[in-house]
Amino acid sequence: MHEIINTDVLIIGGGASGLAAAITLKQINPQLNVTIAERLSRTGKKILATGNGRCNLGNINISNEYYHGSVKNYMDIIESTPHTDDFFKSLGLYCVNDDMGRMYPYSNTATSVLTVLRNKLSEYNVTEICDFNAQKIEKYKNKFKVYNENTYIIANKLLITAGGCAGNTAFGTDGNMLKLLKQLGHKITPLYPAIAPLNVKNDELKGLKGVRIKGIASAYSDGKKIASEKGEIQFNECSLSGICIFNLSYLYAIYGNHLKISLDLCPDKNYSDITDILYELRKINKDNTLEHYLIGLFNKNIAAYIIKKAEKKQTDKIYSITNQDIKKIASLIKSLAFSVTDQSDWKNAQVTYGGISGESVDSNLQSTVMKNIYFAGEILDVDGLCGGYNLTWAWSSAIYAARKIAESFGGKNGKN
Ligand SMILES: Cc1cc2nc3c(=O)[nH]c(=O)nc-3n(C[C@H](O)[C@H](O)[C@H](O)COP(=O)(O)OP(=O)(O)OC[C@H]3O[C@@H](n4cnc5c(N)ncnc54)[C@H](O)[C@@H]3O)c2cc1C
Repeated sequence: MHEIINTDVLIIGGGASGLAAAITLKQINPQLNVTIAERLSRTGKKILATGNGRCNLGNINISNEYYHGSVKNYMDIIESTPHTDDFFKSLGLYCVNDDMGRMYPYSNTATSVLTVLRNKLSEYNVTEICDFNAQKIEKYKNKFKVYNENTYIIANKLLITAGGCAGNTAFGTDGNMLKLLKQLGHKITPLYPAIAPLNVKNDELKGLKGVRIKGIASAYSDGKKIASEKGEIQFNECSLSGICIFNLSYLYAIYGNHLKISLDLCPDKNYSDITDILYELRKINKDNTLEHYLIGLFNKNIAAYIIKKAEKKQTDKIYSITNQDIKKIASLIKSLAFSVTDQSDWKNAQVTYGGISGESVDSNLQSTVMKNIYFAGEILDVDGLCGGYNLTWAWSSAIYAARKIAESFGGKNGKN
């Protein structure tokens, strides 16, 4: 075992929050020695994959309704730190918003986001130690020793930004740090994949694989509607996905297998409009077979699926359908139901629902279990919906924790 470095602040995890925290610490107090330890060969790998390579780094519409979590002051944290746009403008990155308020780099590529962060880290002489997988943390005099397999780093204060469990293993986030923090006495709330597909009964999806449709997805539990989302819905072999399903996926953590998803395939038309259309179509195409009945409304796979669900044969003549059949078909179009069987796997999830409980951190995001350990980002029990909300939390909580750490040094160690 040998020591690599002795530093004022060690940031464990070089993702979005770790990088933003290092920059903020140096901006507030250039005298501080700031080190980032990252288990992968480079920092910021996940940032490059965000927003399909475009990095949806924020949103102009920020409010409590887009977040969940047990860290009590998360909205105060977001509101008391610079808006994402302003933080990045101060680093020289310009952003644009789409019509949903989602913020992207002006260049439309995530590489720009990572490059401006990296440029600042090097300008501020932040030490980056890559391929360092923090596996053990122990108290050492008034400091900490953080161990890799055969080396260690000594630090006065730790900021842990090691993320959660979501995403491909190539992003370095498998929940290892949460296990370690649990052993150290922190409370970890149950962890679930969120912004993820929802697995539904296979037989309910037969014939729909690969189809995409715009509609409204509503979540129900025990017959009660819980939430609705409008947008694109995608049918996969064993799951439903698309942004509106992603935004409902955290509900599995609360309702488990009681969760049902109902799809409205024609949100701009009410039930009676649909029945009128179906009567009309019966007249227009009466001598054709049912295979062609809904083809003027939907993709052929959806059209065939609805006819099958209505227990009619594709080969029957359209004139043979009764008014009762039409009511049934209209109901299926307005509320096509699926039973959720399981949560997604972690690799298909974008964020972790759950994390370090609000009970284990104070209002400064400092551990209540071990003083001088701070947290930021996805490792905390705060998560947001799709649309830039999770990166907003990563930047804001990092800036906030960095400010608190910088303040905690005060003038005592001659650092300011
Ligand atoms: C495919 C995908 C697309 C996404 N798109 C968006 C989007 O467009 N907009 C949005 O707002 N959010 C998006 N998210 C979510 C967002 O990327 C995360 O919420 C955010 O990156 C969390 O930042 P973080 O710094 O807390 O953690 P991470 O970015 O996950 O970084 C944690 C870092 O810690 C390192 N680490 C872990 N354990 C250790 C250890 N023991 N020792 C040393 N290092 C360690 C990891 O290697 C990693 O580099 C997306 C997520 C995914 C997976």
